[in-house]
Amino acid sequence: MAAPPNKTSEPLVITSLQNERIKAIRALDMRKERKETGLFVAEGTSVLVMAEQRGVVPETIVCLADNPEETQRAKEVCAWAEEQGATALSVTARVLGKLANKDNPQSLLGVFRQRWSELPNVSGVKPDDLWLALEEVRDPGNLGTMIRTADAVGATGIILIGTCCDPYVRECVRATMGSIFSVPLARTSREDFVAWRAGWVGDVVATHLNGRQDFRDVSYQGPVLLAMGSEGPGLSDALVEQATKVVRIPMAGQLDSLNLAVATALTLYEIKRPTLKRQP
Ligand code: SAM
Repeated sequence: MAAPPNKTSEPLVITSLQNERIKAIRALDMRKERKETGLFVAEGTSVLVMAEQRGVVPETIVCLADNPEETQRAKEVCAWAEEQGATALSVTARVLGKLANKDNPQSLLGVFRQRWSELPNVSGVKPDDLWLALEEVRDPGNLGTMIRTADAVGATGIILIGTCCDPYVRECVRATMGSIFSVPLARTSREDFVAWRAGWVGDVVATHLNGRQDFRDVSYQGPVLLAMGSEGPGLSDALVEQATKVVRIPMAGQLDSLNLAVATALTLYEIKRPTLKRQP
């Protein structure tokens, strides 16, 4: 970001869209800027509460100035972020609206550092681990939904293979509903993935329209690595060849495939079905 962080405890009140800090936050809408700075934007009190619960501190927290409707929880999150060293900016509704690209913005917005994990060490993977591998996912809404679902089902993490959309783009972060702070994300090339997968001790499950088995008829041997293809061409042959099991989800209507995020949700839940506890 162009502007140096302001570490004063008194929040600045910013009214102008030309303010350097505001321009630097808006610039994070561009992938190039996110790549160069390693930062991203997350919005909304509930999302920032998730960050707090995970101990992920924003570099900057932006709040509406003189907002009588600000909830107690939003105030607490602001206070926590400042205590942890975040720069607090107080802005007008017009400025926050521009930052959030919305007419009625939520009252809080945070600028966070992106977090990337290494591929897990295969010798340290536990039998009940479940990693989701996504090849060349293109749609940020799909990716965000899959991050949220991976969190919901208790998956261990997600591996992005090849050229994927950016998980830290605003649309994806929104779709995660805060799970962006919970689910480890790793990224790799197809070649490196294939080499790494050679040490995987459990099932490598590929989903494919021509899968040999119905996904409900399979006994999944953990740790499971679940591979999903892209929205367009689906899984590459190179990845299907890596699978110990190739499964299909039955289709009874006129279409031949499901939306990627829907297919991922169904398969994750099926794999986890024996161990997911029933809630009273
Ligand atoms: N045209 C692609 C093909 O022929 O594979 C379809 C891509 S589909 C929209 C995206 C991904 O969702 C697929 O690569 C697969 O991982 C999963 N998928 C969708 N429907 C599926 C089904 N009925 N059975 C198994 N996997 C499915």
